Amino acid sequence: MGSQDSLPIIWKAESTTEDYERARIGRVFNHRRPKRYPVAIVEADKEEHIVEAVRLAQTKGVRISIRSGGHSWAAWSVRDDALLVDMGKYRQIELDDESGIVAVSPSTTGRQLNTALREKGLLFPGGHCPDVGLGGFLLQGGMGWVCRSWGWACQYVKAIDVVTADGRQLRCNEKENNDLFWAARGAGPGFPAIVTRFYLQTKPLPSHIRGSGYIFPKNNFKEAMNWVKSIANTFDEDTEIVCVGLYLPDYAESVTLVSFTTFKGSDADAVTALQPVEDSVPNLYLQKWFSRPTSLQQEYVQQGLANPEDHRYCCDNVYLHNESNVEDVLEEAFTTLPSRKSFTLWFSMAPTSRRPLPDMALSMHSDHYLALYTIWEDEKDDQLCESWVRNVMNKIAPHSVGQYLGDSDFQVRNTKYWGEEQGKRLMQVRKKWNPEGRICGYLDNGDQSGAEGLPNILQ
Ligand SMILES: Cc1cc2nc3c(=O)[nH]c(=O)nc-3n(C[C@H](O)[C@H](O)[C@H](O)COP(=O)(O)OP(=O)(O)OC[C@H]3O[C@@H](n4cnc5c(N)ncnc54)[C@H](O)[C@@H]3O)c2cc1C
Repeated sequence: MGSQDSLPIIWKAESTTEDYERARIGRVFNHRRPKRYPVAIVEADKEEHIVEAVRLAQTKGVRISIRSGGHSWAAWSVRDDALLVDMGKYRQIELDDESGIVAVSPSTTGRQLNTALREKGLLFPGGHCPDVGLGGFLLQGGMGWVCRSWGWACQYVKAIDVVTADGRQLRCNEKENNDLFWAARGAGPGFPAIVTRFYLQTKPLPSHIRGSGYIFPKNNFKEAMNWVKSIANTFDEDTEIVCVGLYLPDYAESVTLVSFTTFKGSDADAVTALQPVEDSVPNLYLQKWFSRPTSLQQEYVQQGLANPEDHRYCCDNVYLHNESNVEDVLEEAFTTLPSRKSFTLWFSMAPTSRRPLPDMALSMHSDHYLALYTIWEDEKDDQLCESWVRNVMNKIAPHSVGQYLGDSDFQVRNTKYWGEEQGKRLMQVRKKWNPEGRICGYLDNGDQSGAEGLPNILQ
Protein backbone atom coordinates (compact mmCIF):
# COMPACT_ATOMS: atom_id res chain seq x y z
CA MET A 1 0.00 0.00 0.00
CA GLY A 2 1.38 3.43 -0.93
CA SER A 3 0.60 6.67 0.84
CA GLN A 4 -0.35 10.12 -0.44
CA ASP A 5 -0.47 12.39 2.62
CA SER A 6 -1.88 9.46 4.64
CA LEU A 7 -4.41 8.58 1.91
CA PRO A 8 -4.92 4.78 1.91
CA ILE A 9 -4.10 4.15 -1.74
CA ILE A 10 -3.00 1.13 -3.74
CA TRP A 11 -1.23 2.09 -6.97
CA LYS A 12 -1.26 -0.43 -9.79
CA ALA A 13 2.34 0.40 -10.67
CA GLU A 14 3.66 0.08 -7.11
CA SER A 15 1.75 -2.84 -5.57
CA THR A 16 2.02 -6.59 -5.70
CA THR A 17 -0.45 -8.22 -8.08
CA GLU A 18 -2.15 -9.82 -5.09
CA ASP A 19 -2.72 -6.50 -3.27
CA TYR A 20 -3.83 -4.76 -6.44
CA GLU A 21 -6.27 -7.52 -7.47
CA ARG A 22 -7.77 -7.67 -3.97
CA ALA A 23 -8.40 -3.93 -4.11
CA ARG A 24 -9.56 -3.98 -7.74
CA ILE A 25 -12.10 -6.81 -7.57
CA GLY A 26 -12.09 -8.31 -4.05
CA ARG A 27 -15.38 -6.56 -3.21
CA VAL A 28 -17.03 -7.16 -6.60
CA PHE A 29 -19.97 -9.55 -6.18
CA ASN A 30 -20.09 -10.95 -9.73
CA HIS A 31 -17.26 -13.41 -10.34
CA ARG A 32 -17.44 -12.86 -14.11
CA ARG A 33 -14.49 -10.51 -13.63
CA PRO A 34 -13.98 -7.41 -15.76
CA LYS A 35 -10.75 -6.94 -17.71
CA ARG A 36 -10.55 -3.28 -16.77
CA TYR A 37 -7.72 -1.83 -14.76
CA PRO A 38 -7.80 1.35 -12.61
CA VAL A 39 -4.53 3.23 -12.01
CA ALA A 40 -5.13 3.13 -8.27
CA ILE A 41 -7.71 2.32 -5.61
CA VAL A 42 -8.35 4.59 -2.62
CA GLU A 43 -9.80 2.60 0.28
CA ALA A 44 -11.52 5.55 1.95
CA ASP A 45 -12.49 5.16 5.59
CA LYS A 46 -13.54 8.78 6.15
CA GLU A 47 -15.05 11.62 4.17
CA GLU A 48 -11.73 13.51 3.99
CA HIS A 49 -10.23 10.61 2.04
CA ILE A 50 -12.92 11.03 -0.61
CA VAL A 51 -12.21 14.77 -0.96
CA GLU A 52 -8.49 14.07 -1.12
CA ALA A 53 -9.02 11.35 -3.75
CA VAL A 54 -10.94 13.80 -5.97
CA ARG A 55 -8.12 16.36 -5.70
CA LEU A 56 -5.55 13.70 -6.52
CA ALA A 57 -7.52 12.61 -9.59
CA GLN A 58 -7.65 16.25 -10.74
CA THR A 59 -3.90 16.64 -10.29
CA LYS A 60 -3.17 13.44 -12.18
CA GLY A 61 -5.81 14.17 -14.85
CA VAL A 62 -7.55 10.81 -14.42
CA ARG A 63 -11.21 9.83 -14.07
CA ILE A 64 -12.83 8.79 -10.79
CA SER A 65 -14.89 5.65 -10.38
CA ILE A 66 -16.90 4.79 -7.28
CA ARG A 67 -17.70 1.67 -5.29
CA SER A 68 -20.15 1.45 -2.39
CA GLY A 69 -21.35 -2.15 -1.97
CA GLY A 70 -19.70 -3.65 -5.09
CA HIS A 71 -22.95 -5.31 -6.20
CA SER A 72 -23.50 -3.78 -9.64
CA TRP A 73 -23.76 -6.81 -11.92
CA ALA A 74 -21.48 -5.30 -14.57
CA ALA A 75 -18.90 -4.11 -11.98
CA TRP A 76 -19.42 -0.45 -12.87
CA SER A 77 -16.79 0.61 -10.32
CA VAL A 78 -13.93 -1.06 -12.22
CA ARG A 79 -12.83 1.29 -15.02
CA ASP A 80 -9.72 1.50 -17.14
CA ASP A 81 -7.14 4.07 -15.99
CA ALA A 82 -9.44 5.59 -13.37
CA LEU A 83 -8.87 6.30 -9.69
CA LEU A 84 -11.33 3.99 -7.95
CA VAL A 85 -12.77 5.37 -4.69
CA ASP A 86 -13.86 2.32 -2.68
CA MET A 87 -16.04 3.32 0.29
CA GLY A 88 -16.29 -0.15 1.85
CA LYS A 89 -14.38 0.91 4.98
CA TYR A 90 -16.23 4.21 5.41
CA ARG A 91 -19.12 3.30 7.74
CA GLN A 92 -21.80 5.34 9.44
CA ILE A 93 -25.33 4.65 10.71
CA GLU A 94 -26.70 7.48 12.90
CA LEU A 95 -30.38 7.64 13.79
CA ASP A 96 -32.12 10.82 14.87
CA ASP A 97 -34.68 9.36 17.31
CA GLU A 98 -36.99 12.33 17.09
CA SER A 99 -37.40 12.56 13.30
CA GLY A 100 -36.73 8.89 12.51
CA ILE A 101 -34.22 10.06 9.89
CA VAL A 102 -31.09 7.95 9.71
CA ALA A 103 -27.79 9.19 8.25
CA VAL A 104 -25.92 6.38 6.48
CA SER A 105 -22.70 5.99 4.56
CA PRO A 106 -23.20 4.60 1.02
CA SER A 107 -21.49 1.25 1.65
CA THR A 108 -24.02 0.43 4.39
CA THR A 109 -26.02 -2.62 3.33
CA GLY A 110 -29.77 -3.15 3.68
CA ARG A 111 -29.20 -5.83 6.31
CA GLN A 112 -26.77 -3.70 8.35
CA LEU A 113 -29.22 -0.82 8.36
CA ASN A 114 -32.27 -2.92 9.25
CA THR A 115 -30.36 -4.78 11.97
CA ALA A 116 -29.55 -1.42 13.58
CA LEU A 117 -33.10 -0.10 13.09
CA ARG A 118 -34.82 -3.23 14.45
CA GLU A 119 -33.77 -2.37 18.02
CA LYS A 120 -35.66 0.90 17.63
CA GLY A 121 -38.73 -0.74 16.09
CA LEU A 122 -37.97 0.83 12.69
CA LEU A 123 -37.49 -0.35 9.12
CA PHE A 124 -36.00 0.95 5.88
CA PRO A 125 -37.35 -0.58 2.65
CA GLY A 126 -33.88 -1.36 1.29
CA GLY A 127 -32.83 -4.03 -1.22
CA HIS A 128 -33.91 -7.65 -0.89
CA CYS A 129 -30.41 -9.04 -1.04
CA PRO A 130 -28.72 -8.52 2.34
CA ASP A 131 -25.40 -7.19 1.06
CA VAL A 132 -26.29 -4.73 -1.70
CA GLY A 133 -24.83 -1.30 -0.91
CA LEU A 134 -27.29 1.52 -0.35
CA GLY A 135 -25.14 3.77 -2.58
CA GLY A 136 -25.78 2.10 -5.93
CA PHE A 137 -29.23 0.87 -4.88
CA LEU A 138 -30.67 4.29 -3.91
CA LEU A 139 -29.14 6.22 -6.81
CA GLN A 140 -30.93 4.04 -9.33
CA GLY A 141 -34.26 4.22 -7.46
CA GLY A 142 -34.20 1.13 -5.29
CA MET A 143 -36.73 -1.68 -5.64
CA GLY A 144 -36.98 -2.44 -1.95
CA TRP A 145 -39.46 -4.26 0.25
CA VAL A 146 -43.08 -3.81 -0.91
CA CYS A 147 -41.98 -1.34 -3.60
CA ARG A 148 -45.29 -2.05 -5.36
CA SER A 149 -47.13 0.11 -2.83
CA TRP A 150 -44.64 1.53 -0.28
CA GLY A 151 -42.94 3.24 -3.22
CA TRP A 152 -39.36 3.44 -4.43
CA ALA A 153 -36.64 3.44 -1.77
CA CYS A 154 -35.33 6.74 -3.18
CA GLN A 155 -38.66 8.35 -2.20
CA TYR A 156 -37.42 8.00 1.41
CA VAL A 157 -34.23 10.03 0.73
CA LYS A 158 -34.59 13.41 2.45
CA ALA A 159 -31.12 14.81 1.68
CA ILE A 160 -27.64 13.77 0.62
CA ASP A 161 -24.10 15.02 1.23
CA VAL A 162 -21.80 14.95 -1.78
CA VAL A 163 -18.27 15.67 -2.91
CA THR A 164 -18.49 17.28 -6.34
CA ALA A 165 -16.30 16.50 -9.35
CA ASP A 166 -14.20 19.58 -8.45
CA GLY A 167 -13.83 18.59 -4.80
CA ARG A 168 -16.48 20.71 -3.01
CA GLN A 169 -18.51 19.30 -0.12
CA LEU A 170 -22.21 20.13 -0.42
CA ARG A 171 -25.55 19.31 1.19
CA CYS A 172 -28.33 18.65 -1.36
CA ASN A 173 -32.05 18.61 -0.62
CA GLU A 174 -35.28 20.21 -1.92
CA LYS A 175 -33.90 23.69 -1.06
CA GLU A 176 -30.13 23.49 -1.52
CA ASN A 177 -28.51 22.26 -4.74
CA ASN A 178 -31.84 20.78 -5.63
CA ASP A 179 -30.86 19.74 -9.16
CA LEU A 180 -28.32 17.31 -7.69
CA PHE A 181 -30.93 16.12 -5.20
CA TRP A 182 -33.35 15.60 -8.10
CA ALA A 183 -30.71 13.60 -10.03
CA ALA A 184 -29.69 11.51 -7.01
CA ARG A 185 -33.10 9.84 -7.09
CA GLY A 186 -32.83 7.94 -10.36
CA ALA A 187 -29.56 8.83 -12.15
CA GLY A 188 -28.03 5.50 -11.10
CA PRO A 189 -24.38 4.97 -12.03
CA GLY A 190 -24.27 8.24 -14.00
CA PHE A 191 -24.75 10.48 -10.96
CA PRO A 192 -22.33 13.40 -11.47
CA ALA A 193 -20.88 13.60 -7.92
CA ILE A 194 -19.90 11.28 -5.08
CA VAL A 195 -22.55 10.77 -2.42
CA THR A 196 -20.92 10.54 1.01
CA ARG A 197 -24.08 10.33 3.12
CA PHE A 198 -27.80 9.65 2.63
CA TYR A 199 -30.44 10.97 5.06
CA LEU A 200 -33.27 8.43 4.99
CA GLN A 201 -36.77 8.52 6.43
CA THR A 202 -37.47 5.26 8.27
CA LYS A 203 -40.85 3.55 8.83
CA PRO A 204 -42.26 1.73 11.86
CA LEU A 205 -41.29 -1.98 11.66
CA PRO A 206 -44.44 -4.13 11.32
CA SER A 207 -44.42 -6.75 14.10
CA HIS A 208 -45.85 -9.60 12.00
CA ILE A 209 -44.25 -10.60 8.69
CA ARG A 210 -46.01 -13.56 7.10
CA GLY A 211 -45.61 -15.40 3.80
CA SER A 212 -47.78 -17.57 1.58
CA GLY A 213 -46.35 -19.54 -1.33
CA TYR A 214 -47.71 -21.68 -4.16
CA ILE A 215 -45.50 -23.93 -6.29
CA PHE A 216 -46.79 -24.86 -9.74
CA PRO A 217 -45.36 -27.31 -12.30
CA LYS A 218 -43.63 -25.44 -15.09
CA ASN A 219 -46.28 -26.68 -17.52
CA ASN A 220 -48.81 -24.61 -15.59
CA PHE A 221 -46.77 -21.40 -15.76
CA LYS A 222 -49.41 -19.63 -17.84
CA GLU A 223 -52.26 -20.46 -15.44
CA ALA A 224 -50.15 -19.38 -12.45
CA MET A 225 -49.06 -16.13 -14.10
CA ASN A 226 -52.52 -15.34 -15.33
CA TRP A 227 -53.91 -15.82 -11.81
CA VAL A 228 -51.33 -13.71 -9.98
CA LYS A 229 -51.56 -10.97 -12.59
CA SER A 230 -55.35 -10.85 -12.21
CA ILE A 231 -55.17 -10.18 -8.45
CA ALA A 232 -51.93 -8.21 -8.06
CA ASN A 233 -52.88 -4.63 -8.97
CA THR A 234 -55.53 -4.23 -6.32
CA PHE A 235 -54.06 -6.56 -3.69
CA ASP A 236 -53.42 -5.57 -0.05
CA GLU A 237 -50.95 -2.67 0.03
CA ASP A 238 -48.55 -4.09 2.64
CA THR A 239 -47.93 -7.23 0.62
CA GLU A 240 -45.08 -7.95 -1.74
CA ILE A 241 -45.96 -10.19 -4.72
CA VAL A 242 -43.46 -12.08 -6.85
CA CYS A 243 -43.57 -14.89 -9.35
CA VAL A 244 -40.31 -16.79 -9.81
CA GLY A 245 -39.27 -19.47 -12.30
CA LEU A 246 -36.60 -21.59 -10.59
CA TYR A 247 -35.30 -25.05 -9.77
CA LEU A 248 -36.03 -26.43 -6.28
CA PRO A 249 -34.21 -29.43 -4.77
CA ASP A 250 -37.41 -31.51 -4.51
CA TYR A 251 -38.22 -31.32 -8.22
CA ALA A 252 -36.32 -32.48 -11.30
CA GLU A 253 -37.91 -29.87 -13.53
CA SER A 254 -38.07 -26.15 -12.90
CA VAL A 255 -41.22 -24.80 -11.21
CA THR A 256 -43.12 -21.55 -10.87
CA LEU A 257 -43.26 -20.18 -7.33
CA VAL A 258 -45.80 -17.44 -6.59
CA SER A 259 -45.17 -15.84 -3.23
CA PHE A 260 -46.85 -13.20 -1.11
CA THR A 261 -45.07 -11.60 1.83
CA THR A 262 -47.16 -9.36 4.02
CA PHE A 263 -45.97 -6.85 6.66
CA LYS A 264 -48.66 -6.36 9.32
CA GLY A 265 -49.31 -5.41 12.96
CA SER A 266 -51.00 -8.69 13.95
CA ASP A 267 -51.53 -12.29 12.90
CA ALA A 268 -55.19 -11.60 12.22
CA ASP A 269 -54.32 -8.74 9.85
CA ALA A 270 -51.84 -10.96 8.01
CA VAL A 271 -54.42 -13.72 7.57
CA THR A 272 -56.99 -11.20 6.35
CA ALA A 273 -54.49 -9.84 3.81
CA LEU A 274 -53.48 -13.27 2.51
CA GLN A 275 -56.88 -15.02 2.53
CA PRO A 276 -57.94 -13.81 -0.95
CA VAL A 277 -54.96 -15.69 -2.41
CA GLU A 278 -55.94 -18.87 -0.64
CA ASP A 279 -59.49 -18.46 -1.87
CA SER A 280 -58.61 -17.88 -5.52
CA VAL A 281 -55.51 -20.03 -6.20
CA PRO A 282 -56.02 -22.43 -9.14
CA ASN A 283 -56.02 -26.01 -7.95
CA LEU A 284 -52.91 -26.92 -9.97
CA TYR A 285 -50.17 -26.40 -7.41
CA LEU A 286 -47.69 -29.05 -6.26
CA GLN A 287 -47.20 -27.55 -2.82
CA LYS A 288 -48.34 -24.53 -0.81
CA TRP A 289 -48.02 -22.78 2.55
CA PHE A 290 -50.26 -20.15 4.10
CA SER A 291 -49.39 -17.17 6.32
CA ARG A 292 -46.15 -18.72 7.56
CA PRO A 293 -44.23 -16.56 10.09
CA THR A 294 -41.03 -15.06 8.78
CA SER A 295 -38.78 -12.08 9.55
CA LEU A 296 -36.55 -9.72 7.62
CA GLN A 297 -33.54 -11.67 8.93
CA GLN A 298 -34.95 -14.94 7.55
CA GLU A 299 -35.83 -13.29 4.26
CA TYR A 300 -32.27 -11.97 3.95
CA VAL A 301 -30.92 -15.49 4.49
CA GLN A 302 -33.19 -16.85 1.73
CA GLN A 303 -32.20 -14.06 -0.65
CA GLY A 304 -28.53 -14.73 0.11
CA LEU A 305 -29.00 -18.42 -0.77
CA ALA A 306 -30.77 -17.55 -4.03
CA ASN A 307 -27.90 -15.20 -5.00
CA PRO A 308 -24.80 -17.14 -3.90
CA GLU A 309 -21.37 -15.51 -3.58
CA ASP A 310 -18.40 -16.61 -5.72
CA HIS A 311 -20.61 -17.24 -8.77
CA ARG A 312 -20.80 -15.87 -12.28
CA TYR A 313 -23.90 -13.82 -13.17
CA CYS A 314 -25.49 -12.45 -16.33
CA CYS A 315 -28.74 -10.47 -16.02
CA ASP A 316 -31.15 -8.39 -18.02
CA ASN A 317 -34.54 -6.84 -17.36
CA VAL A 318 -37.55 -5.00 -18.76
CA TYR A 319 -40.64 -3.16 -17.71
CA LEU A 320 -43.38 -4.75 -19.77
CA HIS A 321 -46.15 -2.70 -21.26
CA ASN A 322 -49.11 -2.70 -18.79
CA GLU A 323 -51.39 -4.32 -21.33
CA SER A 324 -48.96 -7.04 -22.44
CA ASN A 325 -50.02 -10.62 -22.54
CA VAL A 326 -47.53 -11.36 -19.76
CA GLU A 327 -48.13 -15.13 -19.57
CA ASP A 328 -47.36 -15.55 -23.29
CA VAL A 329 -44.48 -13.10 -23.46
CA LEU A 330 -42.71 -14.59 -20.42
CA GLU A 331 -43.33 -18.31 -20.92
CA GLU A 332 -39.92 -19.05 -22.45
CA ALA A 333 -38.11 -17.00 -19.79
CA PHE A 334 -39.80 -18.97 -17.02
CA THR A 335 -39.62 -22.47 -18.45
CA THR A 336 -36.25 -22.83 -20.24
CA LEU A 337 -33.72 -21.76 -17.56
CA PRO A 338 -30.16 -22.61 -18.66
CA SER A 339 -28.78 -23.76 -15.28
CA ARG A 340 -30.22 -25.08 -11.99
CA LYS A 341 -29.13 -21.98 -10.06
CA SER A 342 -30.62 -19.45 -12.51
CA PHE A 343 -33.99 -17.85 -11.97
CA THR A 344 -36.49 -15.54 -13.66
CA LEU A 345 -38.48 -13.02 -11.65
CA TRP A 346 -41.70 -11.11 -12.24
CA PHE A 347 -42.26 -8.41 -9.66
CA SER A 348 -45.65 -6.75 -9.30
CA MET A 349 -45.19 -2.96 -9.33
CA ALA A 350 -48.80 -1.74 -9.12
CA PRO A 351 -50.22 0.43 -7.60
CA THR A 352 -46.90 2.39 -7.29
CA SER A 353 -46.64 2.21 -11.10
CA ARG A 354 -50.09 3.84 -11.41
CA ARG A 355 -49.42 6.74 -9.02
CA PRO A 356 -47.79 10.02 -10.05
CA LEU A 357 -44.14 10.01 -9.01
CA PRO A 358 -42.53 12.92 -7.15
CA ASP A 359 -40.40 15.24 -9.30
CA MET A 360 -37.15 13.26 -9.54
CA ALA A 361 -35.00 11.63 -12.20
CA LEU A 362 -36.60 8.23 -11.63
CA SER A 363 -39.50 8.28 -14.05
CA MET A 364 -39.72 4.86 -15.68
CA HIS A 365 -41.79 1.96 -14.47
CA SER A 366 -44.79 -0.21 -15.35
CA ASP A 367 -47.02 -2.76 -13.64
CA HIS A 368 -44.76 -5.64 -14.65
CA TYR A 369 -41.06 -5.87 -13.85
CA LEU A 370 -39.24 -8.83 -15.36
CA ALA A 371 -35.63 -9.80 -14.68
CA LEU A 372 -33.50 -12.72 -15.85
CA TYR A 373 -30.74 -13.85 -13.48
CA THR A 374 -28.47 -16.55 -14.84
CA ILE A 375 -26.07 -17.99 -12.29
CA TRP A 376 -23.24 -20.46 -12.84
CA GLU A 377 -19.81 -21.36 -11.56
CA ASP A 378 -17.62 -22.39 -14.45
CA GLU A 379 -16.24 -20.10 -17.15
CA LYS A 380 -16.95 -22.81 -19.73
CA ASP A 381 -20.69 -22.10 -19.28
CA ASP A 382 -20.35 -18.36 -20.04
CA GLN A 383 -21.48 -18.74 -23.63
CA LEU A 384 -24.49 -20.92 -22.73
CA CYS A 385 -25.82 -18.54 -20.06
CA GLU A 386 -25.01 -15.29 -21.84
CA SER A 387 -26.61 -16.41 -25.09
CA TRP A 388 -29.72 -17.65 -23.26
CA VAL A 389 -30.20 -14.18 -21.75
CA ARG A 390 -29.61 -12.50 -25.10
CA ASN A 391 -31.93 -14.78 -27.07
CA VAL A 392 -34.79 -14.74 -24.56
CA MET A 393 -34.53 -10.98 -24.10
CA ASN A 394 -34.56 -10.34 -27.86
CA LYS A 395 -38.08 -11.76 -27.93
CA ILE A 396 -39.30 -10.01 -24.77
CA ALA A 397 -37.84 -6.55 -25.47
CA PRO A 398 -40.41 -5.59 -28.17
CA HIS A 399 -43.08 -5.75 -25.42
CA SER A 400 -41.21 -3.40 -23.11
CA VAL A 401 -41.53 0.29 -22.27
CA GLY A 402 -38.02 0.52 -20.82
CA GLN A 403 -35.64 -0.87 -18.28
CA TYR A 404 -34.50 -0.57 -14.65
CA LEU A 405 -30.92 0.64 -14.24
CA GLY A 406 -30.29 -1.73 -11.34
CA ASP A 407 -30.28 -4.96 -13.36
CA SER A 408 -28.86 -3.46 -16.58
CA ASP A 409 -25.60 -3.71 -18.48
CA PHE A 410 -25.29 -0.81 -20.97
CA GLN A 411 -22.33 -2.54 -22.62
CA VAL A 412 -24.68 -5.21 -23.92
CA ARG A 413 -28.07 -3.55 -24.41
CA ASN A 414 -29.09 0.09 -24.40
CA THR A 415 -32.69 1.24 -24.16
CA LYS A 416 -34.89 3.72 -22.31
CA TYR A 417 -34.38 4.34 -18.58
CA TRP A 418 -36.24 7.59 -17.90
CA GLY A 419 -39.24 9.53 -19.20
CA GLU A 420 -38.53 11.74 -22.22
CA GLU A 421 -38.22 15.06 -20.33
CA GLN A 422 -36.49 13.58 -17.28
CA GLY A 423 -33.87 11.89 -19.46
CA LYS A 424 -33.02 15.19 -21.18
CA ARG A 425 -32.91 17.11 -17.91
CA LEU A 426 -30.71 14.49 -16.30
CA MET A 427 -28.12 14.72 -19.08
CA GLN A 428 -28.07 18.55 -18.63
CA VAL A 429 -27.63 18.29 -14.85
CA ARG A 430 -24.80 15.82 -15.40
CA LYS A 431 -23.02 18.18 -17.80
CA LYS A 432 -23.38 21.09 -15.39
CA TRP A 433 -21.84 19.24 -12.43
CA ASN A 434 -19.37 16.99 -14.23
CA PRO A 435 -18.52 18.85 -17.47
CA GLU A 436 -15.19 17.12 -18.07
CA GLY A 437 -16.49 13.64 -17.31
CA ARG A 438 -14.10 13.48 -14.33
CA ILE A 439 -16.49 11.12 -12.60
CA CYS A 440 -16.97 8.03 -14.76
CA GLY A 441 -20.50 7.92 -16.10
CA TYR A 442 -22.51 5.08 -17.58
CA LEU A 443 -20.34 2.17 -18.65
CA ASP A 444 -21.46 1.61 -22.24
CA ASN A 445 -19.69 -0.46 -24.89
CA GLY A 446 -16.08 0.78 -24.92
CA ASP A 447 -16.75 3.16 -22.01
CA GLN A 448 -17.37 6.06 -24.41
CA SER A 449 -20.46 7.83 -23.05
CA GLY A 450 -18.61 10.13 -20.57
CA ALA A 451 -20.24 13.50 -19.87
CA GLU A 452 -22.72 12.94 -22.74
CA GLY A 453 -24.55 10.11 -20.99
CA LEU A 454 -27.06 7.69 -22.47
CA PRO A 455 -29.38 8.36 -25.46
CA ASN A 456 -32.49 7.06 -23.59
CA ILE A 457 -34.14 5.59 -26.70
CA LEU A 458 -36.44 2.59 -26.49
CA GLN A 459 -34.94 -0.44 -28.29
C1 LIG B 1 -27.52 -10.21 -5.39
C2 LIG B 1 -28.12 -8.90 -5.80
C3 LIG B 1 -29.41 -8.59 -5.41
C4 LIG B 1 -29.99 -7.37 -5.79
N1 LIG B 1 -31.25 -7.05 -5.35
C5 LIG B 1 -31.78 -5.85 -5.66
C6 LIG B 1 -33.07 -5.45 -5.17
O1 LIG B 1 -33.72 -6.17 -4.42
N2 LIG B 1 -33.56 -4.25 -5.56
C7 LIG B 1 -32.84 -3.40 -6.37
O2 LIG B 1 -33.32 -2.31 -6.68
N3 LIG B 1 -31.63 -3.74 -6.84
C8 LIG B 1 -31.09 -4.94 -6.52
N4 LIG B 1 -29.86 -5.28 -7.00
C9 LIG B 1 -29.17 -4.36 -7.91
C10 LIG B 1 -28.31 -3.41 -7.10
O3 LIG B 1 -29.11 -2.53 -6.40
C11 LIG B 1 -27.39 -2.61 -8.03
O4 LIG B 1 -26.53 -3.51 -8.65
C12 LIG B 1 -26.61 -1.52 -7.31
O5 LIG B 1 -25.91 -0.75 -8.26
C13 LIG B 1 -25.66 -2.06 -6.30
O6 LIG B 1 -25.18 -1.04 -5.49
P1 LIG B 1 -23.74 -1.17 -4.82
O7 LIG B 1 -23.45 0.09 -4.12
O8 LIG B 1 -23.68 -2.44 -4.05
O9 LIG B 1 -22.84 -1.35 -6.12
P2 LIG B 1 -21.48 -0.66 -6.61
O10 LIG B 1 -20.99 -1.58 -7.67
O11 LIG B 1 -20.59 -0.35 -5.47
O12 LIG B 1 -21.96 0.70 -7.24
C14 LIG B 1 -22.52 0.75 -8.52
C15 LIG B 1 -22.30 2.09 -9.14
O13 LIG B 1 -23.22 3.04 -8.59
C16 LIG B 1 -22.59 4.31 -8.49
N5 LIG B 1 -22.41 4.65 -7.09
C17 LIG B 1 -22.43 3.80 -6.03
N6 LIG B 1 -22.24 4.47 -4.89
C18 LIG B 1 -22.11 5.77 -5.22
C19 LIG B 1 -21.90 6.95 -4.47
N7 LIG B 1 -21.78 6.91 -3.16
N8 LIG B 1 -21.81 8.14 -5.14
C20 LIG B 1 -21.94 8.19 -6.50
N9 LIG B 1 -22.14 7.09 -7.25
C21 LIG B 1 -22.22 5.89 -6.62
C22 LIG B 1 -21.24 4.18 -9.15
O14 LIG B 1 -21.35 4.48 -10.53
C23 LIG B 1 -20.93 2.72 -8.92
O15 LIG B 1 -19.95 2.21 -9.78
C24 LIG B 1 -29.25 -6.48 -6.62
C25 LIG B 1 -27.94 -6.81 -7.01
C26 LIG B 1 -27.38 -8.00 -6.59
C27 LIG B 1 -25.98 -8.32 -7.00
